[in-house]
Amino acid sequence: MAPIPKECDYLVIGIGSGGIASGRRAAKHGAKVIAVESKRYGGTCVNVGCVPKKVTWNAAAIAETFRDAKAYGFGGYETPTFDWPQFKKKRDAYVKRLNGIYETNLNKDHIEHMKGRAKFVAKDEVEVALEGGGTQRIRAKHILIATGGRPKIPDIPGKELCIDSDGFFDLEQLPKKIATSGAGYIGVEMSGMLHSLGSEVHFFIRQQKLLRTFDPMIQDTVTKEYERQGVNLHKGSQITKVEDIGNGQKRVTYQETETKKESTVEVDTVLFAVGRVPEIEDLHIKDFGIKLNEANHVVVDDYQNTNIPNVYAIGDVSNSGFELTPVAIAAGRRLSDRLFGGKPDSHLDYSNIPSVVFAHPEIGSIGLTEPEAREKYGDKVKIYKTQFTGMYYAMMDPEDKGPTAYKIVCVGDEEKVVGLHIMGQGSSEILQGFGVAIKMGATKKDFDNCVAIHPVSAEELVTMT
Ligand SMILES: Cc1cc2nc3c(=O)[nH]c(=O)nc-3n(C[C@H](O)[C@H](O)[C@H](O)COP(=O)(O)OP(=O)(O)OC[C@H]3O[C@@H](n4cnc5c(N)ncnc54)[C@H](O)[C@@H]3O)c2cc1C
Repeated sequence: MAPIPKECDYLVIGIGSGGIASGRRAAKHGAKVIAVESKRYGGTCVNVGCVPKKVTWNAAAIAETFRDAKAYGFGGYETPTFDWPQFKKKRDAYVKRLNGIYETNLNKDHIEHMKGRAKFVAKDEVEVALEGGGTQRIRAKHILIATGGRPKIPDIPGKELCIDSDGFFDLEQLPKKIATSGAGYIGVEMSGMLHSLGSEVHFFIRQQKLLRTFDPMIQDTVTKEYERQGVNLHKGSQITKVEDIGNGQKRVTYQETETKKESTVEVDTVLFAVGRVPEIEDLHIKDFGIKLNEANHVVVDDYQNTNIPNVYAIGDVSNSGFELTPVAIAAGRRLSDRLFGGKPDSHLDYSNIPSVVFAHPEIGSIGLTEPEAREKYGDKVKIYKTQFTGMYYAMMDPEDKGPTAYKIVCVGDEEKVVGLHIMGQGSSEILQGFGVAIKMGATKKDFDNCVAIHPVSAEELVTMT
């Protein structure tokens, strides 16, 4: 006899950023919700993403402050020590506490949750291979796929000797010398943190610049700044082979993209941050004809509907194009408001989503880059930009001063702001407020009408001519 399935209104697969937010909102609307998770509650963001990353970035920022402090007259210490194992232990404990809070919140909202790997056995039914053994079937009126993604490592000889961004958070020691690869934001963040904390970083990028999807001003400034800070940036080259040479050391062979010239460097750790793939295969949802794009993301419409009725997808597994925690949360909550909250038009507007990179210094970006705006609006585009040295660096020698670079992208006679790109200290905090203004349709005149705050870097954003 076939096992009797549990029944619910809403089955959420994946208790990560998006899944938990959507499930809790649905439960608040009175839906009977069941949620399934195969790993730790909280998903990528809490366990191997935003949270432990930001904590590590904070440590890196403190290391930088120690170095900068000398310029302000502080002394009495030579090189401050940093106890990575102790730091990791505390960071892990913090994450574990958050895992517990997630579980408590599910209980508070009367959401039935279970640990196990889910797969579709019908368009409206899932089978969970339970963590403790056995299986459980669940039939649901609505099913949400919120399974996120996972990092990938290129298929090169020695790939098993390398770590990915998940492995970064497992490192028991700060690497002495590390090879990193990947010019996207995760590669830039991890390489920057490691460098600031004292690792010798060899950073391999296939092209000439970092963050190639960002505005060219950001690409140029961050690339130059990482070089200035002493990151060994191997531009136009890629890692082709990794060998174990004993004593915890690895020989990395890399090739220059243009000349094909091969060279080697010996390191203790090799980290790839070269992109992520959607977590879809184990769901067996392809068997039921779900539409995926060429990168295997679930194709959804503006309302997060897949092509299968009553099956939805949000977050990194979907083709939204924004792999960010607040995007998954916002899409998930709006979906539940639509399905269970009596708001039939509720959906996320994906325009003007702010995002930041915890580089050194930070980067913030919202809306169109200058090339995107020129392609869309031609000569109606007007650019305001400035580069300067923030007052924080006033006491430093010229070679120790970091950059600040701001660009406002405007369109039309009214100079509507369609893009803002900022790099410099505090950019992550600065962008949130400007994001509100831009989302509301601010013009350059609105920016100028706001009286400046002095003396801060961000005042330049409301005084640019
Ligand atoms: C290193 C790193 C740093 C990041 N930093 C930031 C940042 O600073 N800011 C930001 O906004 N975003 C950041 N992100 C991105 C952010 O973490 C993701 O966009 C976000 O977690 C996506 O949420 P999600 O709900 O789509 O998926 P996830 O949070 O990944 O959750 C998916 C869950 O589904 C589970 N799952 C998968 N398949 C199954 C299955 N078959 N059965 C049961 N469970 C399953 C997984 O185990 C996982 O827990 C970062 C990501 C990384 C990797």
